[in-house]
Amino acid sequence: MVTAVAVASTVTDPELPMLTLADLGVLREVSEEDGRVTVSITPTYTGCPAMDTMRDDLEHALRDAGYTEIEIRTVLEPAWTSDWISEDGRRKLAEAGIAPPGSAPRRSGPIPLTLGPSVRRVACPHCGSLDTEEQSRFSATACKALRRCRSCWEPFEHVKEI
Ligand SMILES: [Zn+2]
Repeated sequence: MVTAVAVASTVTDPELPMLTLADLGVLREVSEEDGRVTVSITPTYTGCPAMDTMRDDLEHALRDAGYTEIEIRTVLEPAWTSDWISEDGRRKLAEAGIAPPGSAPRRSGPIPLTLGPSVRRVACPHCGSLDTEEQSRFSATACKALRRCRSCWEPFEHVKEI
């Protein structure tokens, strides 16, 4: 029988199907005791509509592998940050033409006062140019923004930093 952690690690994200929940940092812990599996997941952001799909996908994958007693727990603290996306995950995003997130903004300590919109440089995943602009704060899914490269003019999606 495949271990529960190995099964859970193959489940992919419904919105970023090139990434597993493990790549994304959503999969926090998988434990197995007396045939009972407990999976802890942290949603990418509160109210993420993909959360129910993630729970269902995890449960189905584990059932298909022969597990019958499955508990999926949602862990909200500490909150998910895009910094938890693994190096592997960032590489897979870039290969799929999606710009991976930069460093997440700091959550504690003094908040720097900035005037006007903060400027963030996002490299084009197609040509690597830093001359890109945001076209829409939201693309097909709320966790991605739509940008366009001013060097090669290709549009691309960018996973936002949170
Ligand atoms: Zn480009």
